Amino acid sequence: MFRVLDLESGETGYLIEDNGWKFEHADLDPDYILMPSFFNAHTHVGDSFIEAPRISLERLVGPNGYKFKKLHETDERTILRGMKKAIDLIKRTSSTSLEFREGGIDGYRLYMKADPERILTALSRPLNLEEAEMLAELSGGFNFSSTRDHSFSFLEECRDIARKRKLIFAIHAGEVNEKDVDAALNLEPDFLIHMNRADGKQLRRAMDMEIYIVSCLRSNAFFGVFNLKNYRILSEYERWLIGTDNAMIATPSMVDELKFGSCFLECESLFRAGTGNPFFDSHMLVRYDKIIDPEKITCSVIRRIESCDIKLILRENISRG
Ligand SMILES: [Zn+2]
Repeated sequence: MFRVLDLESGETGYLIEDNGWKFEHADLDPDYILMPSFFNAHTHVGDSFIEAPRISLERLVGPNGYKFKKLHETDERTILRGMKKAIDLIKRTSSTSLEFREGGIDGYRLYMKADPERILTALSRPLNLEEAEMLAELSGGFNFSSTRDHSFSFLEECRDIARKRKLIFAIHAGEVNEKDVDAALNLEPDFLIHMNRADGKQLRRAMDMEIYIVSCLRSNAFFGVFNLKNYRILSEYERWLIGTDNAMIATPSMVDELKFGSCFLECESLFRAGTGNPFFDSHMLVRYDKIIDPEKITCSVIRRIESCDIKLILRENISRG
């Protein structure tokens, strides 16, 4: 049983586990805050074992770049150990993450080994159409790096397979410059990752199409492609989400990502983007040390917590009596 302050309603009460979780209103001094869980909308856990050197985006994560060379020459046990460590941190700090698994069917099978509980919501990246058909059976959908890196007709065919099977189709766009954005929009994806370098017209078009747009602030800053102007526009968009991107660049903890964001973006929109989950609702308990300002409650919580302060994540509904 936990004595909690429910952040959404402002009520205090007991959170009790009794054939599922129940909230019962009571006037009390809370020990914990009950709040919506973070949803990490973009991760790559496969490169967790690598320490990223400070080289350009293209040379680090581009096709045949440093990351893929490292993955190629490293034994499976080391890669798996890194993946498990990243998945464990995601499990302790977010309801789930939208994981962009690379390396075709082999890469996806490795992920399945690393995450037997299926904590992450993992998308696969097929290398050809035959793999796409197989991966449609195994994964939550497809992810691709950029329209620059693949033939457009292949992407279209993968998109059609995803649509037919009611799976997710997601793609990176507008990270380095705006040149891959129009083609990405023509694919009508469910999720667009980055868009930090998209121009105003492209950003508007994506928002009119109601596509989820995911910003990865620390990753953009690492690569020198940070663009406050676009984040400010996106922070007013209902379908804006936040992700932590490559585990070798930034910890896969949304607490760390949002803390960085809170240095230059308004806390309430960051909180909304960090907890917006297009798949399901879930809640978490955060240790509460009574210095919260009720007028600015979301801001205070975000600024103060560390990943280790999250006591529990309830990946289920709470009944309220
Ligand atoms: Zn990415």
